[in-house]
Amino acid sequence: MKIRQMLVDPSKYNIKCPYSMIPTRIVVHNTANDASANNEISYMRRNDEKVSFHFAVDDKEVVQGIPLNRNAYHAGDGSGKGNREGIAIEICYSKSGGDRFVKAEQNAAKFIAQLLKERGWGIDKVTKHQDYSGKYCPHRTLDMGWERFLNMIRAELGQTQVDVPTSSKEPNYTGKITYQSYDNKKAKWLPEVNSHNPNDYAGNLGNNMGGLRAKPTYGEINIQVHTVGGSWLDWVSSKNYSKNNKTNGNSYAGIYGKNIDMVRIKSTKGYVDYRAYDNKKGYWLPWVRSTNTSEYAGNEGNPIGGIQMK
Ligand SMILES: [Zn+2]
Repeated sequence: MKIRQMLVDPSKYNIKCPYSMIPTRIVVHNTANDASANNEISYMRRNDEKVSFHFAVDDKEVVQGIPLNRNAYHAGDGSGKGNREGIAIEICYSKSGGDRFVKAEQNAAKFIAQLLKERGWGIDKVTKHQDYSGKYCPHRTLDMGWERFLNMIRAELGQTQVDVPTSSKEPNYTGKITYQSYDNKKAKWLPEVNSHNPNDYAGNLGNNMGGLRAKPTYGEINIQVHTVGGSWLDWVSSKNYSKNNKTNGNSYAGIYGKNIDMVRIKSTKGYVDYRAYDNKKGYWLPWVRSTNTSEYAGNEGNPIGGIQMK
């Protein structure tokens, strides 16, 4: 991965990185913030706090703020091995999590694998803030499973994964669900919406829906739709989700031009609450929970104008 340098000004070395360093380890952090790597490093460079770190990684890039031959203040262990021998890596967007964080963590795993290779280090050199001061950091990476994160690095190194219990591989919920619907009247896919915005829904109320696709942050979502006067169509998996794709029939549930009257949703993680807007009745029907597999949203024969998920 390419690294963009925005190094701290040498006039601030006495505050940010006063000691020369020969690194012996990597120390992983989460920012507990929702700022980009660029902004994390800019802020660190600008302020006069005795807080510093070598790299910030987000969903797009790796930005460096402290040279690798100087120490940084991040591990909370005074002049211990964390602060004096550790290469500090902050993973961005951990406060709210979601897609950006998932991406940032993937980039961090890639970048760490690269650092290990360059130095001929093993996975044992990857440590976490928590190891030095007991602080619950990297908080979201720990929530999602530390061994799982190490496995992401092992995968980059081409090493065998260490088995971890399913429960700690990924949280047991869908995370943010991104979804969009096809408007038969306008004959086009409408903009994506997401389940973290309680006011969002897919569709134009009053216009009949012809297609639906959805993808969660974790696990998979499967959708099955029924068309007016037709039958239940095949289940479609979020694995094939492709935003605005008009041609890949596996990427959405439905048939262009045919009106959907019933929708069923299943998820492999947690559950999805969903409901349909009945265009004929002119109102939203009751919420349905995906764990209730015999349930569906909609009234047979009445075209659906909107689908909402949470
Ligand atoms: Zn930390």
